[in-house]
Amino acid sequence: MTQNPLLIGKGLPPFADITTDHVVPGITQLLEELETTLSQLEENPEPTWSGLVEPLQELQERLVWSWGIINHLMGVKNSPELREAHQTVQPQVVQFINRLNQSQPLYKAFKALAESPDWDSLEPAQKRIVEATIRDAELSGVGLTGEICDRFNAIELELAELSTQFSNQVIDATKAFSLTLTTPEEIDGLPPSLLSLAAQAAREAGEENATPENGPWRITLDFPSFGPFLKYSTRRDLRETVYRAYISRASEGELNNFPLIERILELRKEKSEILGFSSYAELSLASKMAPDVAAVEELLEELRTVSYDAGVQEFEDLKAYAKSQGETADLKHWDISFWSERQRSEKFAYTDEELRPYFPLNQVLDGLFGLVRRIFNITITPADGLAQIWHPDVRYFQVADNQENAIAYFYLDPYSRPAEKRGGAWMADCINRAKIIEDGITKIRLPVAYLQCNQTPPVDGKPSLMTFSEVETLFHEFGHGLQHMLTTVDYPGASGINNVEWDAVELPSQFMENWCYDRSTLFGMAKHYENGETLPEHYYQKILASRNYMSGTAMLRQIHFSSVDLELHHRYQPGGKETVNDVRQRIAAQTTVLPPLPEDAFLCSFGHIFAGGYAAGYYSYKWAEVLSADAFAAFEEAGLDNDSAVVSIGEKFRNTVLALGGSLHPMEVFKSFRGREPSTKPLLIHSGLVTAS
Ligand code: ZN
Repeated sequence: MTQNPLLIGKGLPPFADITTDHVVPGITQLLEELETTLSQLEENPEPTWSGLVEPLQELQERLVWSWGIINHLMGVKNSPELREAHQTVQPQVVQFINRLNQSQPLYKAFKALAESPDWDSLEPAQKRIVEATIRDAELSGVGLTGEICDRFNAIELELAELSTQFSNQVIDATKAFSLTLTTPEEIDGLPPSLLSLAAQAAREAGEENATPENGPWRITLDFPSFGPFLKYSTRRDLRETVYRAYISRASEGELNNFPLIERILELRKEKSEILGFSSYAELSLASKMAPDVAAVEELLEELRTVSYDAGVQEFEDLKAYAKSQGETADLKHWDISFWSERQRSEKFAYTDEELRPYFPLNQVLDGLFGLVRRIFNITITPADGLAQIWHPDVRYFQVADNQENAIAYFYLDPYSRPAEKRGGAWMADCINRAKIIEDGITKIRLPVAYLQCNQTPPVDGKPSLMTFSEVETLFHEFGHGLQHMLTTVDYPGASGINNVEWDAVELPSQFMENWCYDRSTLFGMAKHYENGETLPEHYYQKILASRNYMSGTAMLRQIHFSSVDLELHHRYQPGGKETVNDVRQRIAAQTTVLPPLPEDAFLCSFGHIFAGGYAAGYYSYKWAEVLSADAFAAFEEAGLDNDSAVVSIGEKFRNTVLALGGSLHPMEVFKSFRGREPSTKPLLIHSGLVTAS
């Protein structure tokens, strides 16, 4: 019998060999083995680093290796068969993780280690790992016994199932809607790129002869289709149809997520009470950089105050603009994208579409790689063929230091594949950096990252031509990747993004986005894909000018989501008089200019907080943006074209934020880079909401 490829336990995942049939037997066998190992370890745990932390880490890594591949495939190669297999084994995995986190003997050994004479000889990274383990064990209910403990575990299990179900229902509801257009009147205003994509979608749905010129065209709720449709379609009635379908995703019938939300909030509340917290938000913040709910609310309120009037003014301007263009109706939600795109393109005289030809993926990658070479002194080269991939479009790259030594690798899966790939963009770890012993030799295991985007795929023989915002997304995910790949921590428990507080995780990613606006970076990559012509200067000026177009509205939107999330996890009473939608509407009164429609069911597709890790943590984007804007300001203060300054500040950034990762508290890491605590001022200046003085 050949070995189950899901059980190899080390190295790059053998994607070509893995099939759905491996999942259930593989995970079942793995859990049996790990169970035995864990029991042996529990028998007489020695409270030392090598006697406790190392063997435990080895055990965890075996689980993470196998289970990580399955979760990865759930995100990028989803299928009914895989889902079923995942669902079959997930309860056992959750149970095992609970048993691990709640192990009394291990917890006691960790406590003993923290109090032992050895403690002082540990490095800061090791101490942080031990402290985080103790904290996480406590948050996982290690102190619970008897019935309360059983109840706690039942909650965890149900929450894991609910979150998978929530996410699957969003995927299914997104797929369930489509609008097929057949006449020139129906496609009025749509750009060629969307017509190509829509014809391709129609072909995939069985309309073999669909062409970009003659249709039929299939509009879906997948973002690359939905987003441009709302921006460009001149058919107000069709925009309304598509918008209403979008905001009601997963909110009724068999795919209704409302009952799931209610249940999730109820269980989270119960869980936090069992652990002795007054709310789930307090529980969530116990492991974050922000000290407490009050500190988060204070930041949100500061940002809200600065952005609200700007948002109101922006909406007034938009209404006046629409009126001047002959629009007689009041502006509704399905008009906002449309009119703001027109206003923006008139004000700044370009459209997103005009810029696409200057941003073919390959050149954008060259630009990005050139930038990180300049500021971080690393070299990135293609390494396709050195790793198995899960789809032919996936690329593989090597990262090398200035001595040409490989220090990391990453996969890049750039394109949207709505039928099998989760929406949005993300970075995930495939392999963590670690010091390991293999065949008696100590060596460094190099980190490997997964970078996932959902940008417009190549259509009709053209390369993937990116919108400027797709370029920003790629830079963003690459920023996460840099923190994972440039870590110098040799303990997987704190290397890369591991053990970095959630609300500090977006620092490197949002930091990287800023570089899309840097002159030399942008001109280095923006060249017409057909004739190589550099992006004309006037476009650059317009990109800069339009950066803060409706920035008050954009800021308010994030504050709205953050505040709703926090309220639902801090003060909301499940089953009470107020529904989750009531909460949202109440908060909308302070945080939106055009309140959501009463039937708006956005919460039903708010996967960040109901299926991802952002529960009572959505504020993290803004919290981290304060850090990232302030970090970028260090470069601006020195001058972005001051090469020697950029190199030395870049080196400092690499050696602190990117290298130290989770080995120190994020406030310490930030201070070691910036020399002081973070300030909100650079964020407000970058957003154009206050002027630099
Ligand atoms: Zn991010």
